[in-house]
Amino acid sequence: MQLTGEHIIASNFSKTQSEAFQAMNPMSGERLATTYYEATSQEIDKAVVKAEEAFRIYRKKSGKERAAFLEKIGEEIMALGDELLDICEQETGLPQGRLQGERARTVNQLKLFAELLKEGSWVDARIDTADPDRTPLPKPDIRQMHIALGPVGVFGASNFPLAFSVAGGDTASALAAGCSIVVKAHPSHPGTSEMVGRAIVSAAEITGMPEGVFSLLQGRTPFVGMSIVNHPLIKAIGFTGSFRGGKALFDAAAKREEPIPVYAEMGSINPVFILPGALKARRSQIAEGYVNSVTLGAGQFCTNPGVVFTLQSEEATAFMQQAGDLIAKVETGAMLNENIGKGYQDQTKKFGQANGVKVLGQGATSKMAVPSQAYLFSTDVRNFLNTPDLSEEVFGPSSLVVAAPTREELLQAAEKLEGHLTATLQATEEDIEDYGDLIAILERKVGRLLVNGFPTGVEVCHSMVHGGPFPATTDARTTSVGTAAIKRFSRPVCYQNFPPFALPDELKNENPLGIWRLLNGQLTKEKSIS
Ligand code: NAP
Repeated sequence: MQLTGEHIIASNFSKTQSEAFQAMNPMSGERLATTYYEATSQEIDKAVVKAEEAFRIYRKKSGKERAAFLEKIGEEIMALGDELLDICEQETGLPQGRLQGERARTVNQLKLFAELLKEGSWVDARIDTADPDRTPLPKPDIRQMHIALGPVGVFGASNFPLAFSVAGGDTASALAAGCSIVVKAHPSHPGTSEMVGRAIVSAAEITGMPEGVFSLLQGRTPFVGMSIVNHPLIKAIGFTGSFRGGKALFDAAAKREEPIPVYAEMGSINPVFILPGALKARRSQIAEGYVNSVTLGAGQFCTNPGVVFTLQSEEATAFMQQAGDLIAKVETGAMLNENIGKGYQDQTKKFGQANGVKVLGQGATSKMAVPSQAYLFSTDVRNFLNTPDLSEEVFGPSSLVVAAPTREELLQAAEKLEGHLTATLQATEEDIEDYGDLIAILERKVGRLLVNGFPTGVEVCHSMVHGGPFPATTDARTTSVGTAAIKRFSRPVCYQNFPPFALPDELKNENPLGIWRLLNGQLTKEKSIS
C-alpha cells in the first residue's frame, strides 16, 4: 500500500500543509519517507461533525450489523498482510514476532466484541411491569437498557501500535457500543495508523456503515488532541499514555461547558509482593519470572512490575543477587521513540543517583539508535517511603526491589501505595492465609490482583479489569481491556409507559432478540411478558 500521509475524514482523504513530521525508525535512526501534517482546525471540525452525522445512523444499526462491521475490520487488517507488520516494525522497533501476536490480539478483540453484540445481552435490559392495581399509587411500566453515548475521541497509544491504537480496544469497545469515533493517531507510528485506518474505512464501506463512523487525524502536538476533547459534539474520550497527557485531557474535559468522561489509562508500577513461604520454596523460579517480566518488550508495558516488596532475610538477599545477575545478561531492544528513550535514561539516572538506592544489576546497552538498557535497583522500605520519586513509573526495563525489616513495615508500604493497574502476590497457600490483611489493602489499590504470575500479559476476555484507582486511571469503575469496556461508551436510559410498538427490540414484550433480561427482578430469557 502506498502511504500518502493523508488524514482520513469520513472516507475522504485530506492533507493540508501545516506542521510537518515523519516517523523515525528507533532501531536505525532513519526518518521514514512519508510526511504527515498536523490536522488543522477545519479538518478536526469536519471529522467531528461527520462523526455526529454518522452517529445518528450508526447507533440504530442492529447488534448483528455492528458485529459484521467489527469482524470485517479484522479481516481487512489481516488482508494488509506482512506490509503492515513491516511498517509497524520500522516505526516502533518492536520485533515481528511480537507484532504478529499483537495483530492476532487486535483481531480477536474485534471478534470478541462482535460475539458480544450478536449475543446482545450486554445492553443490561431491565423490565419492571406495570401494576395498575397497586395502592396507594399504581405502578408504571418501566424498562431500561444501555444506549451509545455519542461520538468518541480515541487516542492511539505508542506502546501497542495495533492493540491499543487505531483499531485497538478503545475503538472496538466504542464502535461496539454504537458510537462513531475520531481517532488521534500516535505520532510515533503514523504509517501503521494510516494503514489500519484505511482498513477500517474499507470495512465500513463493505458493510454499509455510514460515512463518518470513523475518522483518523494525525498530529504531533497537543493541539489536535485538545481540539478533539474540546469539541462540543464529542461525548467521551478513550486514552492510554502518560499521566501528564491523560490528566491534561481529563482536566480539559472537566472544564468544558458540557463536561464529558475521559477514560485515561495512565500507567502504574504494578507492585509485586514476594511472601516468605514462596521465596523459600521457589526463589530461583520467581527471580527468572520477574526478570523476564521486567525486560519483556524493553519493559514498555503499563503492566511492567516496577517495584517488588519482600521481607529482609537471607533468602531475600540471595533473590536480589540472583535477579541482579540475571538482568546483567539481558540485552533489550530499541525504545519506542526518542522521547520515551530520553525519559527512560533520565529516570534510571535519577534512581541510580538517589540516596540509599543500590544498583543490583544492569544489562547491556542495545545497539539501537534509541537504545535501552535493563536496570534492577534496591532500597529499604524506609527510604522508599521517604523518597516519593522512587514511586514514579519508570517506563522501560527497570524495577526496584524494596526490602522491609518487619511485616508491619511491609503493610505500611502497601498502605502508602497509590492506585495501580495490578498487584501481584508470590505466595504459598499458607502465605495467603497469613497475609489476608495485605490482600485487603491491595484490593483497594488496584484493578487486578494476581497470585503466582507476573502482571505483563493481559488476557482479553469478559472478566478482565485493566484499570484501577487514580492515578492509574481517571475512572476506577471500569476497564480498558475486555468486553466490560463497552460500558464506558454507553449510558442507561429508561422508557416509562411506552407503547410496546415504540420500544427498542431489546425491551419488547416478546424478547425478539432472545437476550437475558432482568424481568421484575429475575434474570430470564423469557419470550413473552403477560
Ligand atoms: P503521551 O505523551 O501521553 O501521548 C499519548 C497521546 O496523547 C499522543 O497522541 C499525544 O499527542 C497525546 N497527548 C499527550 N499529551 C497531550 C496533551 N497535553 N494534550 C493533548 N494531547 C496530548 O504518551 P507517549 O507518547 O506514548 O509516551 C510518553 C510517556 O507516557 C512514556 O514515557 C510513559 O511514561 C508513558 N506511557 C504510558 C503508557 C501506559 O500504558 N499507561 C503507555 C505509553 C506511554 P501529541 O504527541 O501529538 O501531543
